[in-house]
Amino acid sequence: MFLIVGAGISGLILGYRLKKYRIPYLIIEKSEKPGGNIQTLSVEGRILELGPNTLLLRPHILTLIQELKLENEVLFASKYAKKRYILKENRYRALPINPFSLFFGSFFSPSTKIKILKDFLKKPNSNLSDNESIHDFFVRHFGLEVAELVVNPFVSGIYAGNSQKLITKYAFPTLIEAEKNIGSIIKGFIKYQKEHRSQGIISFKNGMHTLVQALYEVQRENILLNTTIERLDFGTNEHTVHLASGKNITAKNIIFTTPAHTTAKYIQSLSEPFAQQLKDIYYSPVCVVHSAYPKNKVKHKTDGFGALHPAKYDTFTLGTIFSSSVFDNRTNREEVLLTTFIGGQKFLPLSQQKIKEYTHKELSEYLGIEAEPLFTHVHIWEKAIPQYESNYAYILPYVHSWEEQGIYLSGNWLNGISVEKCIGFNAELAQKLASSVRE
Ligand SMILES: Cc1cc2nc3c(=O)[nH]c(=O)nc-3n(C[C@H](O)[C@H](O)[C@H](O)COP(=O)(O)OP(=O)(O)OC[C@H]3O[C@@H](n4cnc5c(N)ncnc54)[C@H](O)[C@@H]3O)c2cc1C
Repeated sequence: MFLIVGAGISGLILGYRLKKYRIPYLIIEKSEKPGGNIQTLSVEGRILELGPNTLLLRPHILTLIQELKLENEVLFASKYAKKRYILKENRYRALPINPFSLFFGSFFSPSTKIKILKDFLKKPNSNLSDNESIHDFFVRHFGLEVAELVVNPFVSGIYAGNSQKLITKYAFPTLIEAEKNIGSIIKGFIKYQKEHRSQGIISFKNGMHTLVQALYEVQRENILLNTTIERLDFGTNEHTVHLASGKNITAKNIIFTTPAHTTAKYIQSLSEPFAQQLKDIYYSPVCVVHSAYPKNKVKHKTDGFGALHPAKYDTFTLGTIFSSSVFDNRTNREEVLLTTFIGGQKFLPLSQQKIKEYTHKELSEYLGIEAEPLFTHVHIWEKAIPQYESNYAYILPYVHSWEEQGIYLSGNWLNGISVEKCIGFNAELAQKLASSVRE
């Protein structure tokens, strides 16, 4: 029997695939509902994403959607999703997305444009530091302007993290591959996009939770919700899991898909130093604020995916997704629904009222809003997103150490934080587990 701990997207995919391989398994989840970070709320006709808003429709995601018969639920992002605004000198400027606007527009200085052109001439380089931050990587390739104005806000849009601390090799390994194999980062990016062709940015008509619910429905008899582990006894052939309810479960294999700090607690008896390293993986806190305003009171265009704020401007919020522009069913046609993110430690001591107040102040300033919000909702993730920082150098060599004993580690702290990466990695892990059973 395979025991999976955690019913976020990682655990749900793992279970779903094991079911397809007809391998007996059980998922235990401490919360009352599955999904982990993927949570959608429906409030007064508005669809609010508390976690991920979108998913890239890569081939393996399309296959999953077809298997789950969710084709009619898929919602493609509108044409606006391609446009991104960046805060620059106190106003939102559209990020150039084609060569014409890049080279003939005024977003970048002439010296940055020359650095971008020179990138195409670069030769493969394998003499790379293992510990280079994503900030330093981009400064080296394109200069400080790109690193501060574009990379920093995009990285905080993805990780809610610090581009000076995230290590390129762990957080964005494809960039390292591009430099090693091609030299030019832009050519490498184009090649990656061709090879991993995405058919667009999607969500579902009723939000991202649709995917979770479908994965839950097809295996609900294999999932125990509201279930926690009291103690774990690892054996050589079999492991005993003592549940808080007093029941015991024995399993030959255990796969942890829980956050790193939770997994650390359970595997402490296997290696205390490794467990300590896992515990030390930093999870950035994130506050998600939904705000609805009357459409005719928002003076700035919301014709984009959203707007991001470079850290150098020291704003309260990291940026905002223009949710009702990306998916037009997120609220009624008279409103604009915005999803704003606040990261770092700054919101933690504040009351929800203050968070709403500061968010409204910033939205009003940059989007020219001349009304109070019709609706607001605040959700706090105290430990939202794992940061792939320098301690991964000590962690990664050990993650497979207990697989012969039937103990496997997974989850978004290991192989990428995006939903599509979690789906891809856990499908592969299920295949590996299935072949280990057959051998
Ligand atoms: C605010 C936010 C916005 C995001 N936006 C995007 C986005 O737009 N696109 C994108 O691709 N990704 C996004 N992500 C990242 C993505 O959502 C996550 O990386 C992914 O959903 C993580 O899935 P997981 O199953 O690995 O972990 P989790 O979702 O953390 O699931 C772990 C599960 O384990 C359970 N658990 C914890 N402790 C125990 C225990 N002791 N016993 C049993 N169960 C336990 C938890 O309750 C949870 O259900 C976002 C994340 C956040 C927080």
